[in-house]
Amino acid sequence: MPEGHTIHKIAKDHSKLLVGRPIGVSSPQGRFAESAMRIDGAFLNRIEPRGKHLFYEWDSGEVGHVHLGLFGKFRVQVGPTLNDPIGEVRMRLTTETETAEIVTIDLSGPTICSLDAPDVRISILARLGPDPLRRNSKPDRMIDKIRASDRGIGDLIMDQSVVAGVGNVYRAEALFVLGIHPLKPGREFEVDELEALWETIRTMLRRGVSDGRIVTVSRDEVGIGRGRPIPREEATYAYKRDHCLKCGDEIRRIEIANRICYFCPTHQAR
Ligand SMILES: [Zn+2]
Repeated sequence: MPEGHTIHKIAKDHSKLLVGRPIGVSSPQGRFAESAMRIDGAFLNRIEPRGKHLFYEWDSGEVGHVHLGLFGKFRVQVGPTLNDPIGEVRMRLTTETETAEIVTIDLSGPTICSLDAPDVRISILARLGPDPLRRNSKPDRMIDKIRASDRGIGDLIMDQSVVAGVGNVYRAEALFVLGIHPLKPGREFEVDELEALWETIRTMLRRGVSDGRIVTVSRDEVGIGRGRPIPREEATYAYKRDHCLKCGDEIRRIEIANRICYFCPTHQAR
């Protein structure tokens, strides 16, 4: 599932292509057709990323909502012609640039693609924890929720109502970097440990936005010089590794919040 960095990058990239223009909206597959008709030709004022959610502020007053879930994908095309949709395209957004190029953004396989009254966005935001990628966001609500809970930290930080945007890879990597065992209960944390966790998550997510992918290690640590991309299987400390990058110990796998959590028993001892 895409983590928060992907959603923020999508919002940034798509905003450049779509915001401030009239947008053709359709649903080639049909499941979004009635909603698409209501905004077809409307101006898009803003695309707002929050955790793993995207909100589309249309000048008609309605708000689009997309959650990619496990299988959702966007396909962006910019070129001289409008191409036919490939596969089951739920929502198609099209516009024309100043240089008369056609922009087409096709969304397929999302968990959510809806068009709602603005209060729906407000109620979704009320249920979400703070998003470390938002400028000026504060960790206070995350810290309070964690410290009031008996649940393990590896479960808590995947909970979008605790902190928004963290998925399975950043969970494993942030806990590894700080040497935290994923089953350590929320109640056992001090405030400063959770502030450090927030900063670590924020730094990792920001790097993910600028790299366009998840890399948590440094080039030195994996011995890969500049000019060559770090391969996926080398890009993390613990996630999907057989052995810890730092101590060589065997990485443990346990299921937490329905996903496999990877950790080093030496670096993240209880
Ligand atoms: Zn280790």
